[in-house]
Amino acid sequence: MSFDINNAKGVFATVDAAIEATHKAQREFYVNCTKEGREAILTAIREAVLARAEDFAKMVREETKLGRVEDKIAKHHLTAMKTPGTEVLDTKVWSGDNGISLGERAPYGVIGAVTPVTNPTETIVNNAISMLAGGNAVTFNVHPSSKVVSAVMIDLLNKTIVEAGGPENLVTMVKEPTLETLNEIAQSPLINMLVGTGGPGLVKAILQSGKKGVGAGAGNPPVIVDASANLELAAAGVYGGASFDNNLLCIGEKEVFVEEAVADAFLDKLEEVGAYVLTAEEAEQLTKQILTLDEFEGTKPCTAHEIARVWHPVKKHVGQDAGEILKSIGIESDTRLAVMLVENDHPLVHVEQMMPVLPVVICKDIDEAIERAVAAERANKHSACIYSGNIENVTKFGARINTTIFAHNGPTLSGVGYNAEGTSTFTIAGPTGEGITNALSFTRARRFAIAQGGLRIV
Ligand code: NAD
Repeated sequence: MSFDINNAKGVFATVDAAIEATHKAQREFYVNCTKEGREAILTAIREAVLARAEDFAKMVREETKLGRVEDKIAKHHLTAMKTPGTEVLDTKVWSGDNGISLGERAPYGVIGAVTPVTNPTETIVNNAISMLAGGNAVTFNVHPSSKVVSAVMIDLLNKTIVEAGGPENLVTMVKEPTLETLNEIAQSPLINMLVGTGGPGLVKAILQSGKKGVGAGAGNPPVIVDASANLELAAAGVYGGASFDNNLLCIGEKEVFVEEAVADAFLDKLEEVGAYVLTAEEAEQLTKQILTLDEFEGTKPCTAHEIARVWHPVKKHVGQDAGEILKSIGIESDTRLAVMLVENDHPLVHVEQMMPVLPVVICKDIDEAIERAVAAERANKHSACIYSGNIENVTKFGARINTTIFAHNGPTLSGVGYNAEGTSTFTIAGPTGEGITNALSFTRARRFAIAQGGLRIV
């Protein structure tokens, strides 16, 4: 497909031009577009994205060099079909002797949104549907390593919106996104809200901006497999979840704590479903390939926070196929997931590795597993999961871990409606508390009070 970014709809050379155009579009949209009109636009967006899901999955893989095409197709389907629209914008009514009051949801106006390289176009679609449903418009500062495919998506969304009766430039982006352009967006008086999906540096920048901010940050989701678990279910769930899109997703399973009584049987089941379980020697070799250690002064880092601060994933392995990663130590395998048995202080337990290499830690009982899982999650308030037939263990872990998403007997992806019930999002706002964001997250509460009993019929 030939694509000329200079002629792409909604893609602007400067921040000022992008925001001015988006601001004009938002005024027109809010004044002229009924809820029915908004829904017509959202339906058209859903259809357009579904029709081109495969193209986008391939383009994202091509540009970012991360993840798996088949899973990226599934992510585009998920974002198009399960991001809710205007139906979540409920109106509240109070009626009594003193009149009627209405609680309504109003748009913020123009939102500045930042996207990650791990779900670039999926996040654009998800944010656009939620923000437009709320009556807003949005200017994106996309991750620079995904700027071309993001521009293709912005162009498609603009053409689709205009064909469906909306104004042009409801969804825009800066052609060459940088930290400087993000700064300009954050400082623009026409931007009323900032939404950031990415790592800790981004979330911090959003929260320090002085604007209303929604921050969707990093995770390091732990899985517990207790002695009462259905081990076939657990192995299949962990294998599927931790290898989905090569474990790029913030929500993906990043480490497992298994009760000693079932540890061997669980590893056997993992092997049966296709995982490559490394020997201790192979695990040591692979760790040296996939993680690096910063120089540090003083005593050896030992808490989860300290370990995560000094160890980092090696960039060339992030988001790559397990088979490719294993090749770096001379192993030939077509597995989707490599698994290694490690001690609890192993860096892979605490680093957000974003690659399909999964550490498994044996724990003496459920209390030790919970304690370790809570430490490994590092209060990201993101996601966690447990395979268990014991409701007390599920309850105890759920209460302690306190994550936005808590899955039972299924992959953490269930928490965003993938092969599960419920709506979806690609902006899981743990740090700022909106959780599974939707149109409601991007609207302001307004109150209309009709006092003194006017307009009442009872
Ligand atoms: P990243 O933080 O490197 O980049 C995300 C975006 O933020 C990019 O557009 C980047 O240009 C910008 N950015 C990065 N550092 C910044 C800083 N200091 N100040 C301002 N802007 C900054 O993350 P990534 O590699 O693109 O994505 C992976 C990370 O995002 C992982 O940590 C993952 O867990 C997280 N993530 C979270 C969610 C969620 O919903 N909570 C969803 C996807 C990804």
